[in-house]
Amino acid sequence: METQKNVNLAALTTFKIGGPAREFVAVKNREELLEALHYAKRENLPYYILGGGSNVFFDDRGFNGLVIKLEGARGMQLIDENNIYVWAGENLGSVVNFATEHSLVGMENLAGIPGTIGGAVRGNAGAFGTSMSDLVEMVEVVGADSLEIKTFRVAECQFAYRRSLFKENTQWIIVAIKLKLQKGVREVIAEKVKTTIRQRNEKQPTGWVGCAGSFFENPIVAKRELIVRFEKETGAKSQDGKVPAGWLIGEAGLKGKRIGGIEVNEKHANFVINVGGATAQDLIIMTSFIKQQVRKLGVQLKEEVEFRGY
Ligand SMILES: Cc1cc2nc3c(=O)[nH]c(=O)nc-3n(C[C@H](O)[C@H](O)[C@H](O)COP(=O)(O)OP(=O)(O)OC[C@H]3O[C@@H](n4cnc5c(N)ncnc54)[C@H](O)[C@@H]3O)c2cc1C
Repeated sequence: METQKNVNLAALTTFKIGGPAREFVAVKNREELLEALHYAKRENLPYYILGGGSNVFFDDRGFNGLVIKLEGARGMQLIDENNIYVWAGENLGSVVNFATEHSLVGMENLAGIPGTIGGAVRGNAGAFGTSMSDLVEMVEVVGADSLEIKTFRVAECQFAYRRSLFKENTQWIIVAIKLKLQKGVREVIAEKVKTTIRQRNEKQPTGWVGCAGSFFENPIVAKRELIVRFEKETGAKSQDGKVPAGWLIGEAGLKGKRIGGIEVNEKHANFVINVGGATAQDLIIMTSFIKQQVRKLGVQLKEEVEFRGY
């Protein structure tokens, strides 16, 4: 296995932030992934698993180890009427298209979320009321220490809002996923996919360059008056006491706020954007500032996006 040296990580993330990886390898299947993990073990190198790079930003100095990027390779199989078996490095959008082509219902609300399906399962990504956990039947992983393959049924994956066993325990690297979908009508599914993408474009800045989607998780808010104000102002309903982080950031008066190359988006304030030349330090300063200001409303925000240090 050949690794590349000093690979620019900024180019491999949607934030476009971060220095070089000491070593880098792209893998397209389970065997290549295992080989890369063996190599890291043998060379005593710390490693980092990267998917589409749409929910992470790297240190300005880069990463002092091996970055293993899971890449798509058209590794999708229809294994019976309702099930798709998919390599973790496939692009989520390609899986949505594959499901549509095979008239399978379930994934339409996830259309337009960037990144790989492995990354989406790990963070239990979701939109418009659907989360990956609604669609997963089984997850195949490799243990980082044992390098053995193991499978988890959905009930064992500890899925919750933007959470999973694999996020809490980085020992497990997702290799493949078995999805359970329902039979439907292809044209209807395709139309729903289009509607989802249109709705996303209305709410969010378009294009993937310069951000990682929502930076903070939507918090559960204890203060009743804040929930009442949110519902009155937006006409939306708080679900399980949650209030969108973007609304709170707007309430804190931070829309359009700029620090270095980072700006809080006017359209969707939970999107902090690299408007050009931003460093990881700019982003850390900005997001710490946001947390501090939102805390004045009595709410503690928590990052959804991961920072990977040197
Ligand atoms: C414009 C935009 C819009 C977005 N909208 C949404 C949205 O609507 N809903 C939503 O939930 N998210 C959204 N996101 C965030 C992001 O797209 C998702 O979190 C996505 O699922 C991340 O996948 P990835 O492959 O890019 O992960 P990466 O960013 O590459 O990695 C994220 C984390 O997952 C780990 N990881 C990646 N692959 C694996 C694997 N195979 N096994 C174990 N760990 C792994 C990485 O080590 C890292 O810790 C958006 C992002 C952008 C840029």
